[in-house]
Amino acid sequence: MDNVILDYYSKITNLNVSRETCNELESLISMILEKNKQINIISKKTCEKDAVRERHIIDSAQIVDFVDLNSDTTTDLGTGGGMPGLIVAIIMKKLKKSMKINLYEKSYHKCVFLKEVSKKLKLNTEVIQKDIFKLNNIETGTVMSRAFKPMPIILNLVCQNFKKYKNVILFMGDKGRKIFNDALQEWELDYEEKKSLTNNDSFILNIKNIKKKKLMKIISIINQKGGVGKTTTVINLASALSQQGKKILVIDLDPQGNATTGLGLSNTEQSDQTIYGILNGTMSISNVIKKTKFENLDLITSNVDLSGLEVETAGDNDRAFILKAKLTAYLNDSRGIYDYILIDCPPSLSLLTVMALVSSNSLLVPLQTEFFALEGLTQLMKTIERIKVNLNPQLEIQGILLTMYDRRNKLSSQVEQEARDYFKDKVYQTVIPRNVRLSEAPSHGVPVLIYDKNCPGSKSYYSFTDEFISQENKIGSAA
Ligand code: ATP
Ligand code: MG
Repeated sequence: MDNVILDYYSKITNLNVSRETCNELESLISMILEKNKQINIISKKTCEKDAVRERHIIDSAQIVDFVDLNSDTTTDLGTGGGMPGLIVAIIMKKLKKSMKINLYEKSYHKCVFLKEVSKKLKLNTEVIQKDIFKLNNIETGTVMSRAFKPMPIILNLVCQNFKKYKNVILFMGDKGRKIFNDALQEWELDYEEKKSLTNNDSFILNIKNIKKKKLMKIISIINQKGGVGKTTTVINLASALSQQGKKILVIDLDPQGNATTGLGLSNTEQSDQTIYGILNGTMSISNVIKKTKFENLDLITSNVDLSGLEVETAGDNDRAFILKAKLTAYLNDSRGIYDYILIDCPPSLSLLTVMALVSSNSLLVPLQTEFFALEGLTQLMKTIERIKVNLNPQLEIQGILLTMYDRRNKLSSQVEQEARDYFKDKVYQTVIPRNVRLSEAPSHGVPVLIYDKNCPGSKSYYSFTDEFISQENKIGSAA
């Protein structure tokens, strides 16, 4: 090999890459350039020999000190034309002969090429022509990925589809810093990084112990019509989710304080340790959270003081954002103590409801199956749309839950039909029947699921919760 070429490789020879290996890397370049005449392996813009060496070969080879040599398998996600999988496989011939490199690639033609090169250079690779997103329980040492998918998708893939892995090596380009900082909002991980040897704006990440941070989802249970089952739904969804180990915070945002008493706490206590204390600026959220007697279920109580808030804050132009600001501060400090925050809204489209709409990720609308039910809903949908456009673009409708359903009453099935025709799959399959046990439970300060777990009302709230969770899992896996 001539000295000019050797000079190129000087960047990686201190990573234990031998001269013989560099020769093989040169053979790989020739094979890539030859194949590139038939199929698109690398961009035509960079297919000069020197450019390929610098941009692809050395760029790929520089990660070799991050490969876990205590393992016997290394996995390359979306190998494409061989970067970095083939390069690492070539280097491993000298560094660790028993290291097998699994090359995942969906394209048939690229797989043919990967196999040709592997055979010619006697590489310890396995070319796997499968969609890695459809595989589960994968085991490997190092995972590496270059120009394959965005970082959050790779992190999700590693967490969900891999049973075992040691570390993940990622190539980060010129926007990499922002992408990485955004990822750190969502993920907990250990990492080391090094500057790219081939590009001043790029860096390489070696990531371990990846865990998704809990994202507390804020859901408001809302309908400006009174007595439709909002509070009953909050209490029982909260209860069923907490029984499944989810951590729940209920915020009672209604001066009536029904969620407060329904969960066994007092709504007559005179104190600022309530949602009113938070919204009048005296308290922060973490100061007023109270434990209920139910595991995993905490509460911010309410009392009648809250009814004065609208008048008291009349001079404050930003008052619609008070709750959101408090919640954001809390979410930033608490690093995901809760899985869900459920807000019980009052029966109006007042300031309190607007605060809930501005603060929430999504909305759950209980709809009583009675005559005027849908009329009220049109007005609610208009309000939601207005808030979405002006104040909270990410707001979504989680779903519509039909409540107080009476099978003997034709009207119930008519309202159901109309709701399903109009709102389609936004309407949950589960329907909550009219059941006297549901109305008895609050006076005992317990969810009906505790009061009488076998009554039809309890069964319906359990099956609604199952439907809710499977909806959440779908949303989670599509993200
Ligand atoms: P508000 O608008 O006043 O806050 P809400 O929408 O929160 O009311 P709930 O308090 O949940 O409605 O329910 C109103 C009344 O109906 C309560 O007494 C409750 O116990 C009862 N109730 C709720 N759901 C059912 C049901 N499926 N079957 C029988 N009674 C029910
Ligand atoms: Mg209520």
